[in-house]
Amino acid sequence: MTDMTTRSQLEGALVAAASNYSWTWDRHTQSLFSQLPSGTGFLHPLQRIRALTDANYDRFLSDRDFIEAAMAAALRVRQPERDPNAEIAYFSPEFGVSETLPQYSGGLGVLAGDHLKAASDLGLPLVAVGLFYRDGFFHQAIAHEAQREMYERSDPRSLGLEQMPVMVDITMDDRIVKARVWRADVGRTRLYLLDTDVELNDERGRKVSDRLYSGDREHRIRQELLMGVGGVRALRQLGYTPSTFHLNEGHAGFLALELIGEEVDKGLNLSEALDAVRDKIVFTTHTPVPAGIDRFPHDLMERYLGVWSDRYGVSISELLSLAHMPGEPETFNMAAFCLRVASRSNGVSKLHGAVSREMFSKVPGGPEISSVTNGVHAKTWVSNDLQEVFESAMGTNWVSTSSESWKPVETIDSSVLRRVRRKDRQYLIDLVAERIGPRVELDPDILTIGFARRFATYKRADLLLNDLDRLEQLLTDSDHPVQFIFAGKSHPADDSGKEIVHRVASFAASEAARGRFVFVPDYQMAVARRMTAGCDVWLNNPVRPHEASGTSGEKAALNGCLNVSILDGWWDECFDGRNGWKIETSDAADRMERDADEAASLYSILIDEVAPLFYQDGSPMSDAWIEMMRHNWKTLGPFVTASRMVSDYDRFVYRPDLRL
Ligand SMILES: *Cc1c(COP(=O)(O)O)cnc(C)c1O
Repeated sequence: MTDMTTRSQLEGALVAAASNYSWTWDRHTQSLFSQLPSGTGFLHPLQRIRALTDANYDRFLSDRDFIEAAMAAALRVRQPERDPNAEIAYFSPEFGVSETLPQYSGGLGVLAGDHLKAASDLGLPLVAVGLFYRDGFFHQAIAHEAQREMYERSDPRSLGLEQMPVMVDITMDDRIVKARVWRADVGRTRLYLLDTDVELNDERGRKVSDRLYSGDREHRIRQELLMGVGGVRALRQLGYTPSTFHLNEGHAGFLALELIGEEVDKGLNLSEALDAVRDKIVFTTHTPVPAGIDRFPHDLMERYLGVWSDRYGVSISELLSLAHMPGEPETFNMAAFCLRVASRSNGVSKLHGAVSREMFSKVPGGPEISSVTNGVHAKTWVSNDLQEVFESAMGTNWVSTSSESWKPVETIDSSVLRRVRRKDRQYLIDLVAERIGPRVELDPDILTIGFARRFATYKRADLLLNDLDRLEQLLTDSDHPVQFIFAGKSHPADDSGKEIVHRVASFAASEAARGRFVFVPDYQMAVARRMTAGCDVWLNNPVRPHEASGTSGEKAALNGCLNVSILDGWWDECFDGRNGWKIETSDAADRMERDADEAASLYSILIDEVAPLFYQDGSPMSDAWIEMMRHNWKTLGPFVTASRMVSDYDRFVYRPDLRL
């Protein structure tokens, strides 16, 4: 049959395989796509397929293995028909499914992407809703050591999105804004994205879904109405009747307006309607920092709530009171609103759950806040070479939550682990070279320490620069050579975050860096993947307890990269004394003093413990180091995955009636 394969059959198979984002975790499909000419940047495979020439096809059509791999990849994505009765609707302002679909800014989005992938793996009946931002989130360039922001328009059709035959109307400030709906397939999970960039809208209406996290308060209100209200209407038009609506952070909270409206239309009054919808809404809070919550001034909200007070037959002030946070006059507090309309709520680690209970204790009538600790989608984040090793040791079901199943890591040969880790370090170094050119030459045989995440100030990306003498001691130690790789974007409106980018990039460009400290621009998922797989140590030094969970350290742990972290978020509950290191938290009240204390703890861990252990046998990756990696896998592997997280949501949040 392969002898007869025509060009259009082959093209059809490649397009089918590229049209489902399952390629982001199917390493066989990835290996197929790696044979396509790569083009520049991080192109979606569909764009690479569309760029194939006659000569490319002639070559592929004479390559039996390639044809068979393409046909097999297409078969793997053949979908069962969509389930219009998906029981859980998952709403999020951002989705990090792939670096080729730039609809995320950081951890919240990547978590959402991983949630959909794990739901697909588990066969959970979940459908997802968000916005399609035409210009996505910004790309970061570094010019004169400062962050520059660039936006790139994307074309949904070249990203594997399919337009749905529906159009949604939302009233905003007395005008109707229309949105079309795109669908992205993420394995068996459907992701619907609303997009107002349609000709039927005026200029202002078209811009509602222009960019992620940009613009003023009013722009935010409009985006959130689009997502919440428009999202529910889109689901209805598509035939969905979910029994649970999950708010991944409060930005989609306005979905309650529409759900309440549906009940009011059936004849209930506001309070009865609230009771009726509450049971369906669950709210996950992600920030322990009050400044991280959406708050809208009352005068603005009044303009947007007019249609709702008319529909419900209540006063605007009654609606405003639903979002009142005691002690905060004249603001519509989105977290307070979500807590009042939800029957279940959770934080994203045990510690964060406790902090959130305290933080929201003032909101009367809210549900008790529990916690589900974040996890990461193993097959997306573990390097392909390491996955092969895991598969041969533990079988294809190595992504398992049973501790038993991780035991066989003991039997993997140390030399195999050293070889895979070196290869992944080399891949990372290749990526750094592609991105910053030949300025710095990194070494694939030395201890490599990574730090990458959004440069929000509480994450303290510059803590390592706190005492430059001690840092120099690390960078010049010829017995225990160490290199550092840093990356991260700051929100464009966050001047202190940008100042930290500037500090770190300036240090990397200085003589003091000794060629052993680099800053990689434009942090995104592909960079995160190579870094968490290619580093030996993952640094995390937020101001405790401001890191709600953190997930990059979980990606690192699955790759055998050991964590050196403040006891915050997920690490606070997972550190066991031997699966990584804890940076001591200082109780100094003064912030400078606290930074200095915690930096001192960090230096002494790196200088006195990490580096000597890594080189204990006189060469990289001592036996004791490998033992620690194995212990890291055995203790963390069963816990840090998104399958564990999503099954926890299923058992304890989506279907609490199953609670033991
Ligand atoms: C995993 C990931 C994050 C989250 O990192 P944290 O450690 O949770 O701050 C942010 N951005 C990208 C691109 C990621 O892949």
